[in-house]
Amino acid sequence: MSHREIDRSVAFVVHDAAPRTWPACAQLLQMLDDLGAGPVTILVVPHYHYQDPIAKDARFIAALDRRLARGDELALHGFHHRDDEPPPRTLRGFVERRILTRAEGEFAALNEAAAAWRLARGIEAFRVLRWPLHGFVPPAWLLGEGSRVAIDRCGYPFRYVSARRGIFRLPHWRLARTANVCYSPDARWRRTLSRALIRAELARAHRRSLLRVSLHPQDVHCAEVLAHWRTLIAEVLAQRTPVTKEQWTASLDTPRYEYPATADRASTRVAA
Ligand SMILES: [Zn+2]
Repeated sequence: MSHREIDRSVAFVVHDAAPRTWPACAQLLQMLDDLGAGPVTILVVPHYHYQDPIAKDARFIAALDRRLARGDELALHGFHHRDDEPPPRTLRGFVERRILTRAEGEFAALNEAAAAWRLARGIEAFRVLRWPLHGFVPPAWLLGEGSRVAIDRCGYPFRYVSARRGIFRLPHWRLARTANVCYSPDARWRRTLSRALIRAELARAHRRSLLRVSLHPQDVHCAEVLAHWRTLIAEVLAQRTPVTKEQWTASLDTPRYEYPATADRASTRVAA
């Protein structure tokens, strides 16, 4: 992949994949496939809302095995995808945990021990299924301090952790800023607000080498949302090259230019 392609990338990301949400996720994936928008990063929730653990659903496992085989990435997306911690006490906490998401920000307020327990089980779920694992995406992109420490101490070499505004590269938590568009589709005012936010984000996106298109299962319930996504994705594909988040993160660690292997250059490097 050339330098230019890496510099103008798009990551198509399907959130909240679990047995219960799979029909909706499959519909999103079909839309992406029809548009030629791949590879895709699929965010897997091992025990979504405490129901139907992924390890017990052979059809779900087989479907994701097929996605892996065609080059998609699977990332760990929380464990239960429910924020059951005590209610937020600050305005910012209220906006983040109850307005921007509806009590889905599982890793927003966990203490380190509780976060470590869920991380360990999530990592184990991937290990048992022999799914490669490079990234952790906290539900609603909310990560509290206890959860951050738990990731540092979990012993698993995650390559990245996603935030709303960018991607942290581990182990040093270096933030690479990205553009990111998503819908909050389940009320008219939320859809209107989402469209305005998406427009503003796309206007800024030319400054970012990576644009993330974040699709959620509930998007399929609204025809106007799906129609908007189709148009937007087709436009983005004309300008950017699809990558998985893991591919893009890895590209940041790759030297951008190959220097000619001259004696001068070699001696400069040695001197440096
Ligand atoms: Zn989610």
